[in-house]
Amino acid sequence: MNDADPPGHNTSAPPSSAPPAIELEGIAGSPGLAIGRAVVVDLKRVGVVRRHIKRSAVEDEVERFDEAVKEASKGLRHVAAQLASNVAPAEASILEAYIMMVEDASLKTDVERHIRLDLLCAEWAVDRAVKRMAEQLRGAGDAYLAERSHDIEFIGDRILGSFSGRQRAVSIPDLHEPVILVARDLSPAETAGLKREFVLALVTEVGTRTSHTAILARALDIPAVVGVGELLARVGTGDRMMVDGLRGSVVLNPTEEQEQVMQARAERRRVYTKGLAERRDHPAQTACGVPIRLRANIELPNEAAIAMGEGAQGIGLYRTEFLYVDRKQPPSEQEQYDIYRQVLEQVAPLPVTLRTFDIGGDKFVSAFQVPQDMNPALGLRAIRLGLSRPETLLTQLRAMVRASVHGELRIMVPMVATLTELRAVHQLFGQAVRDVESRGLPHADRIPLGIMIEVPSAAIMAYELSLEADFLSIGTNDLVQYALAVDRTSHALAYLAKPQDPAILRLIAGVVDAGRHTETPVGVCGAMASDPLSALLLIGMGVRELSMEASALAEIKEAIGRVSLADAETVAREVRGKLSAGEVHSTLLARFGEALSDLLELHE
Ligand code: PEP
Ligand code: MG
Repeated sequence: MNDADPPGHNTSAPPSSAPPAIELEGIAGSPGLAIGRAVVVDLKRVGVVRRHIKRSAVEDEVERFDEAVKEASKGLRHVAAQLASNVAPAEASILEAYIMMVEDASLKTDVERHIRLDLLCAEWAVDRAVKRMAEQLRGAGDAYLAERSHDIEFIGDRILGSFSGRQRAVSIPDLHEPVILVARDLSPAETAGLKREFVLALVTEVGTRTSHTAILARALDIPAVVGVGELLARVGTGDRMMVDGLRGSVVLNPTEEQEQVMQARAERRRVYTKGLAERRDHPAQTACGVPIRLRANIELPNEAAIAMGEGAQGIGLYRTEFLYVDRKQPPSEQEQYDIYRQVLEQVAPLPVTLRTFDIGGDKFVSAFQVPQDMNPALGLRAIRLGLSRPETLLTQLRAMVRASVHGELRIMVPMVATLTELRAVHQLFGQAVRDVESRGLPHADRIPLGIMIEVPSAAIMAYELSLEADFLSIGTNDLVQYALAVDRTSHALAYLAKPQDPAILRLIAGVVDAGRHTETPVGVCGAMASDPLSALLLIGMGVRELSMEASALAEIKEAIGRVSLADAETVAREVRGKLSAGEVHSTLLARFGEALSDLLELHE
């Protein structure tokens, strides 16, 4: 069963002698709920032939290696072409990155060295070179690079698979019935090659929200939980599992009661989504009829269509940094233009907010060599990185300006900390417009340029900033991180990272106030916007635009429709006197809990 389909008939819970239910925590990779049987995908590395060779066989072995590389590239190109013409054209670029890795010169040098000097057969040489590269990446002390070590291992498997002549297109068994796939990790090729109708959900042992499995699962609309420790040690094929891609957890051997609760949640989600689909053209509004704009956050271009299908009133945040993943060079102006154009056309006449790349911090580094010697979250990240590489930022801005004729474009700048930065971006933006004009190319008459408010200094200076920015969008994920000094990736400090903390609410109130004075639209695009209680609080505080994951839109729309603006404002006033996140939360629960009881159950 998954929440897009009616509950399946195979829902019997384990008898009392069955193994106990075990809950495993992971990371919410792709939203959705599923119950079913696990199929553990055996992704053991391809068996490696280990054989020393005679010196006279060296050239033959080098040739065998070259042939295997060609074969592996061919296989990957085939999958990339399928993707490009099929479900996920933009994801084909991830495969392109893999092809580049297969053909990488340093891998070839390493392999040849093992063949020529150590007299290893080609398979052994590949295995050794790949292991060394993967170890180096893991040892670099950089989470992004450590993650890429899995990519190198996949590449090694592709090449090794080519020696034997049988291309391991997908190492997943032929699926004939809907199952939950469990694996250490899946490569983009494997994920892309899945038969969607037979995959209820994906669960992997490694990975983060920005890992390829999660990105592709979201793009393919498959619920996923990633980064589940000890997964393979606990799950076997045939085990019954529940997957919660909303909260990032899985339950092994769920009890009958747990399954019923999950099915009820899935059913409610289905009803809300269906209800919304029927009213998808109706704007969200409070019980008293005040319109609230609900927009979607996306990471991949083809999520735009999904978001529109969920009733989004445009894209409030497109995290364009995902275009820079796994590449040696940033994407070209033309490549970016094509993608922005595609998104703008899909969403028109509603607006698309393209955020300039937010790379650094906990975001992948990809083509950029960000210095290691500083605290990454406080270092060269987002617009700081962009302004330090003006050519790269200019390329992106030119692509955006060119794409502006294809829809309703807004440009948003991440992590602005000072007015000086905003002015510097304005100058670059002006340059980008002049560059486009000098080539005789058209652009929209007006392209709003707004900023994210996610650094406390920007919240404090919101009035001055709003005089020079066309809109403000509050990024509560980072605002919480920077204002409360809590690393946003820390599980241990998650108890502190509360957007309902009075300090955060006071900063938000100041920003809303600044926007009101200067008539500058203020929205919220951090995760706070997709929490029903917080969403109502924000509306009571004066926010009229919320942007969130497409999967949360139905729920938030429903919540908003159940409360009048006057009530939301009263509660927001009451909350102002509270001294802790806990007190704020209790107040919200006491005032809105009854109206939202069924919705809140989805989050418990
Ligand atoms: C935020 O910080 O709240 C935000 C929306 O941006 P990101 O999560 O991409 O840093
Ligand atoms: Mg942010």
